[in-house]
Amino acid sequence: MSYRMSRRTFLVSAAAVAVSAGPLAVVARAAARTPKVLVIGLDGCLLSRIKDADAPNLDALMAAGLTAPSSIYANPLAPTLSGPGWSTIITGVWPDKHNVKDNTFSGAKFAQYPDFLTRAETAKPSLNTYAVSSWAPITDTVFSPNVDTRVSTPSAEYDTGTTSRALAQLRDGNPDVVFVQLDNIDHAGHSYGAASQQYLDAIHTADAQAGQLVNAVKSRPGYADEDWLIMVTADHGHTDPGGHGGSTLQERQTFLIATGPTLAAGSVRNDVKMPDVAASALAHLGIALDPAWDLDGRPVQQPAPDDFDALRGRLQSRVDETGIPAGILGFTHTPPAGWSVDNSAMGGGGVTEWRGWSFTTDEFWTQTQRDQNRECNIRARNVFAVADGDEWSDKTLTGSFDSTLVSPAHPVTGGRGATLTYTTYYRQESPQKGEVLVSYDGAAPVPVRTYTADVPSRTETVTLQVPAGATTVRVRFRYTGGNNWYWVIDGVRISQ
Ligand SMILES: [Zn+2]
Repeated sequence: MSYRMSRRTFLVSAAAVAVSAGPLAVVARAAARTPKVLVIGLDGCLLSRIKDADAPNLDALMAAGLTAPSSIYANPLAPTLSGPGWSTIITGVWPDKHNVKDNTFSGAKFAQYPDFLTRAETAKPSLNTYAVSSWAPITDTVFSPNVDTRVSTPSAEYDTGTTSRALAQLRDGNPDVVFVQLDNIDHAGHSYGAASQQYLDAIHTADAQAGQLVNAVKSRPGYADEDWLIMVTADHGHTDPGGHGGSTLQERQTFLIATGPTLAAGSVRNDVKMPDVAASALAHLGIALDPAWDLDGRPVQQPAPDDFDALRGRLQSRVDETGIPAGILGFTHTPPAGWSVDNSAMGGGGVTEWRGWSFTTDEFWTQTQRDQNRECNIRARNVFAVADGDEWSDKTLTGSFDSTLVSPAHPVTGGRGATLTYTTYYRQESPQKGEVLVSYDGAAPVPVRTYTADVPSRTETVTLQVPAGATTVRVRFRYTGGNNWYWVIDGVRISQ
């Protein structure tokens, strides 16, 4: 306690310095407060219905911080169920790593990909970690016994008991990380559907409970010395008639609402994915994310947009597509600054949206046609590039698909290695082919990677040997085929 008091005295003077000394002093002040994390999980909650509901506390969190609509996978990767959903949020990796494919948790790889409270305990054993849930598998199975306190609320008490336990912990204890899962919105979804008044009523009730939790944080005696990251999220959505597990966008819908340092009031982002919750919590606690952990999440406090993301403001609504709702802005053929698309060998006609490389979003692209595995493009974020011969071929065309996406000339130092990384997702049908080619200083492009078999969503790393004397490298992604499948490229980076 005496340490805290003296630290607080320091804070006052540091804050005073901040006025004259600028950003560095502000950072010093923030670093002096004790980082803490509250995660509130709202099972089966749709962001669109929060906006329809009487939910003043969630509205206030959105006004005070970040709102990020997001989406998850569908089968064959994993169904839109709570087991895979919460496991993804809590471990910071997608189901192809944690391997939870249903609510039995059989085959789960939690030893290799543990929950984020266990990672926090391992990195900083002095941290006080607490998890309480109305849906018992979260605290019985997903969180490990290494968590200081795991409570599965007796079903008779349900969300009321879960909330009161978390409130007591925030009021009377000194937790560093609190995870709370409330279940009743999902229950209302199953009983009455997401379109029902009962579903809105359940959101209203959960909103009040979330408000109590946030107020408990702000009422802590040491709150002024604490630096809270508060995140609200969901494991999956619900259909209008009720239910989930399938591949509709509404079932795949999820979101993050977050308040904390660096998250601008009223901000909206489209680059957030569910594994980011765990990564954000760990980063906030000052725990370095070890590459060996192989996390898919990245801290929401540290946005890392790529060139394609700059196209969001240019996205257009559908032209020839029929399955995509008319109001959704989701594709453009105009590449970002410095990039180009070579369609000189591209066939004519076909579906306008997909003639040659396009820049699109999950919301738009997955609604072209469900259950053709586009839902499993989990590692692309925000706007990504797609060559989709299957969708292009859904209208009269001539010739074949032959389109090349060309990167800007990136400066490099000759005579040394360089690393090309990108996120890819490739679904094969012969004679389709994907080729990655590089050229130095405008010389003939040379293939460095060829795709002629399915590649699940993953980040590729290609080591390049830059010739002596070369000063720039350009990367090309060439897709050839016809009425076959597709290729996704995102997050292209060259480092040296
Ligand atoms: Zn459910």
